[in-house]
Amino acid sequence: MALLMKGSEVVNAMKERMLKDVEELNGNGITPGLAIVRVGARPDDLSYERGAIKRCEGLGIKCRVFEYPETITQQALIDEIRKVNDDNGIHGILIFRPLPKHIDESVIKYVISHEKDADCLNPVNVAKVFEGDETGFAPCTPEAVVEMLDHFGINVAGKKVTIIGRSMVVGKPLSMLLLKKHATVTICHTRTKNLEETCKEAEILIAAAGKAKMVTGVFVSEGQVVVDVGINMDENGNLCGDVDFEKVEPLVASISPVPGGVGSVTTSVLAKHVIRSAKRGLGLVW
Ligand code: NAD
Repeated sequence: MALLMKGSEVVNAMKERMLKDVEELNGNGITPGLAIVRVGARPDDLSYERGAIKRCEGLGIKCRVFEYPETITQQALIDEIRKVNDDNGIHGILIFRPLPKHIDESVIKYVISHEKDADCLNPVNVAKVFEGDETGFAPCTPEAVVEMLDHFGINVAGKKVTIIGRSMVVGKPLSMLLLKKHATVTICHTRTKNLEETCKEAEILIAAAGKAKMVTGVFVSEGQVVVDVGINMDENGNLCGDVDFEKVEPLVASISPVPGGVGSVTTSVLAKHVIRSAKRGLGLVW
């Protein structure tokens, strides 16, 4: 039976560390603050928002939701984000994407303060992630994968890691975070030839394609670590990952489940970024 890499274990370990940080901040008169900027009310955003608030408030982070109608103009949203940037009680900002079509994300990404940009929207943070500069805020999901591997003692240095997916939300930044940790990274995508073989050769396989249960037994090999980032619905309307868990789990050494895997760690990384930003404001970290 494979080792089940449960997100809850990672979340609890991170919580221990973060509570100490928040205590230190409180001792310096600071309550870390998160701003969630949401345009409209998509059910997925609301669900993530509830999870993020619960996680953050459980750590002593004050959360404020800035909700705007879908009809907000681009200029009005820019003005609002600038006010949030300037608010001293806010140390981290999350802006839900995609934004409505009439709002140009390529403009908004420059408006959010890069120092408070908790989920790597601002190009300054993107560049830092790609340079391997750890003072940048990586996107929460790829960093959650790294937290998971670290927690379960999986050292990626020198290992063959294959990632399925090359989005800017998961695949590409994740490849950079793992490269920084000395992994030998292969990125696969829709045009990759011999996908199954490439995945099979990996020592660590990370699925972030957004295709329900696409990773079947023929993609994996004995001794492999499999991390499932996908969040999809199966044919019965149940939440599932990119990995066909029933078929893959008996064949590999370790596997993360969906639900209860990487997804649950993402909001802990968000909290970690808010706390780091608050500590940076005090000059306690860079
Ligand atoms: P995306 O659609 O932007 O990118 C998917 C990538 O996978 C693309 O690069 C594409 O080339 C590749 N791909 C798709 N089908 C493929 C196939 N059949 N073979 C090979 N490559 C293929 O998606 P995304 O935003 O990167 O998200 C990926 C998955 O991760 C989704 O299921 C999403 O819901 C999930 N996700 C989870 C979290 C979390 O918190 N755990 C956060 C973000 C995204």
